Amino acid sequence: MSKQASQQLQATIIAAHGRHYLADADGTKLQCVTRGKKTNVAVGDIVHVTLTSPDQGVIDKIAERKTLLYRSDQYKSKLLAANLTQLFIVVATEPGFADDLVSRSLVAAEAAGIKAHLILNKTDVTESLARTRERLQPYASLGYPVHEVSAKGKPEETMAILKPLLAGQSSILIGQSGMGKSSLINLLVPDADIAVREISAALDTGKHTTTFTRLYQLPELGPDSSIIDSPGFQEFGLYHLSEGMLERAFVDFEPYLGKCKYYNCRHLIEPQCAILEAVAEGKITKMRHTLYGQLLHESSQTLY
Ligand code: GDP
Ligand code: ZN
Repeated sequence: MSKQASQQLQATIIAAHGRHYLADADGTKLQCVTRGKKTNVAVGDIVHVTLTSPDQGVIDKIAERKTLLYRSDQYKSKLLAANLTQLFIVVATEPGFADDLVSRSLVAAEAAGIKAHLILNKTDVTESLARTRERLQPYASLGYPVHEVSAKGKPEETMAILKPLLAGQSSILIGQSGMGKSSLINLLVPDADIAVREISAALDTGKHTTTFTRLYQLPELGPDSSIIDSPGFQEFGLYHLSEGMLERAFVDFEPYLGKCKYYNCRHLIEPQCAILEAVAEGKITKMRHTLYGQLLHESSQTLY
């Protein structure tokens, strides 16, 4: 083995497919695998790679993560992305979006300690603009910023809004299909399609699949600026959350936590529950409380 072949490098994981990972070490792309059958590496992880050839290596160490976001896979929480600082949920004036998915994403972001934003795309579709703004009002009231853009109608203005938000941050863009997530990524990363083909070939996925989570560095926005594109709509994994973590992930519950009669109140049917009282008074919406109940039920299903 040459000297170079036993060298250790620090790199960022930029794509993952099964046990195959692509890492970026100061611009050099490294095809990496984990030792054994481990799949404990996430896109965004900072890793130590031992080179086995100039562009291949084995992942030996994962640096301590600042944040970790999970996806849902067959009722289990699997790793999705590490070290994110913010999450953007893309919705549009048309087609319609699911409130349930938006709310679940917000809970996942809160639980992971990641700042969440909403992007309202296709504001050029004026017929449904007022109605969509109204639908987003409850999220704005909870403190989540809503940024209005038009990827196709006003691309320059859209970039002028998004670039300052992305500078110096590790962000992820998620959204249901049809909201315009790809259009936004293509504006931010003009050669994204080429990068995807290169990554697909480098990951040696066999089928040249493009359905993998990938990280793009955004050097023109300054160091430590990157964006992760995740295929389809990721259902976030919330199964790993304890009951305490779950109630704290609902920002609207915060003023009432610790004020229930019973210290171990689950806020479902208990008497003198401060959360249920806030729901009755309209201070917490029924939709949010119903989602809390569903998530509590789902996470308890996996405990037994
Ligand atoms: P994705 O499925 O979320 O990745 O969405 P795409 O980026 O593929 O966009 C879905 C459709 O919406 C395409 O036909 C786009 O041309 C269209 N689209 C994207 N952004 C805009 C926009 O700002 N305004 C309008 N009117 N259409 C848009
Ligand atoms: Zn309670």
